[in-house]
Amino acid sequence: MERFSIRDAPPIGTKVVTVVVGTEPELEDFTVHEELLRRSSDFFNAALNNDWAEAGERLIRLPTGQPASFYIYVQWLYSARLFSKGTLSQATSSTAGNNQEWTSLIQCYFLANYLQDVDFKDTLMDALMQWTAEVPQLNRNATVVSAKEIYDNTEDGSPLRKFFVDLSVWKVEGSVWENEEGATLPYDFLRAVTIGLSRRLQPGQTLQDVIDEKNGTCHYHAHGNNPCYKSKSPR
Ligand SMILES: [Zn+2]
Repeated sequence: MERFSIRDAPPIGTKVVTVVVGTEPELEDFTVHEELLRRSSDFFNAALNNDWAEAGERLIRLPTGQPASFYIYVQWLYSARLFSKGTLSQATSSTAGNNQEWTSLIQCYFLANYLQDVDFKDTLMDALMQWTAEVPQLNRNATVVSAKEIYDNTEDGSPLRKFFVDLSVWKVEGSVWENEEGATLPYDFLRAVTIGLSRRLQPGQTLQDVIDEKNGTCHYHAHGNNPCYKSKSPR
C-alpha cells in the first residue's frame, strides 16, 4: 500500500451536493462532496458558484448524463482509480469485455468533456491508449460508439477526435467501414482519415511511430500548458 503525506490529501470540505443524473427510467442520485466536484470540474465550479436560488436545496441535474458513467466519475474523484472494466471483463482477453470497456471509456470521456474536467479527460485518454495496446484490432462491436457520436459529443480539435482518427487510420478492420452508412460519417472525420491514410502510404512510417510512441506522453491530453494530472500528487 502506497502511503502519502496528510498534506497531499485532496480537500473534500464538509458540504455535499446531490447530482441527479440521466432521465427516467435511467435516473440516479449521487451525493458528492461539493469541494471535490468544484476543484476538478469547471462545469460544477461555475454551477455551484451562484448563490443558491432555492435555499437548502443543493441539487444539480445532469439529464444528458449516463448514471453508469457518472458512477465511474465519482469513484475516480474519491480514489483516483478508474473502475472502467465492466462485468464482462472476467475473461480479460474476451472481445466482449474489451468492447464493453471501450464503450464505457468513450461514454466517460463525453461526460468529462461536458463537465470540463481536464484531469478526468486525460486519465481516460491514457486508459484508452492502454486499451488500444491490449486489443489486436478495433472491430465492428468495439466501434459501436461511432465516429458520428464522437464528433457530436466533442468540439473541433478535441484530443478524442485526433485519437479516433489515428485509430481509424491504423487499427480498424475494413469491415467496419463496409458496414457503416456513408451518410452518418462526419465530413471532418472522413477528411482527417483520408489525410491520415495518404500519410500512412508514405514509406518509413509505422503504427509504432504514430500511436505507440505517444503512449505515456501528453500528445492526446487536453491540459495544454497547465500541469498534467500525472504531476499532481497524489491524485
Ligand atoms: Zn499530460
